Amino acid sequence: MSEPIGIFGGTFDPIHYGHLRTAFELWQSLRLAQVRFLPTGDPPHRDASLAPPALRLQMVQAAIVGQSVFVADDREMRRTGLSYSVDTLLDLRREYPERSLCLLLGMDAFLGMPHWHRWREIFELAHVVVAHRPGWKAPITGPLGEVMVDRGTGSVRDLHVAPAGRVYVHAVTQLEISSTELRQLILAGRDLRYLVPDAVRELIMGSGCYARRST
Ligand code: ATP
Repeated sequence: MSEPIGIFGGTFDPIHYGHLRTAFELWQSLRLAQVRFLPTGDPPHRDASLAPPALRLQMVQAAIVGQSVFVADDREMRRTGLSYSVDTLLDLRREYPERSLCLLLGMDAFLGMPHWHRWREIFELAHVVVAHRPGWKAPITGPLGEVMVDRGTGSVRDLHVAPAGRVYVHAVTQLEISSTELRQLILAGRDLRYLVPDAVRELIMGSGCYARRST
């Protein structure tokens, strides 16, 4: 079987070094063929994002220039209506019927999974790889505690030999950056230098996308 494909979804509003470093470390440690960044179109669990989808995609594209194993994938933006992870994975599974797919999530996102649309089907479609973020612990009780017992693995090989079905938790360098904080910094008139790639910083400054509160 070919090497797994990493799937990293997010609002990316904006993309920052916490996302990029996490994706890079997971690509290296899990021996992924590539990491696909999928900016959400119309996120089901968040307020309307503050930067328009096309600009968020442009920021992702600018952020990954020069890293050929990183790919910007706009399929969620091309879909009308809500974009659910399960639908995105069904779509990817049609494209890659046999391939190992690894859904990459921060621990905060993983803990929210039981609220996602048809969340249990996700384990039939992909492996779930959880990156530790500061202050978040793996669940030991509740539905996700059960998922950890049934599907948890400490072996990268398991992610290569089956196309889906395992949960793998991996510690990554802790960069406590969040898009919410970055937007607040902009509102406070601060500079995002060294928190996001220069090309992303320039797109933010040039567009003024976070410079005023949404109504
Ligand atoms: P917001 O503050 O707007 O919620 P965010 O910074 O958490 O945004 P998202 O686009 O919502 O970014 O996150 C996409 C994915 O990246 C999620 O799985 C999230 O857990 C993960 N992620 C976000 N920030 C980091 C970080 N600093 N380190 C590791 N993973 C991160």
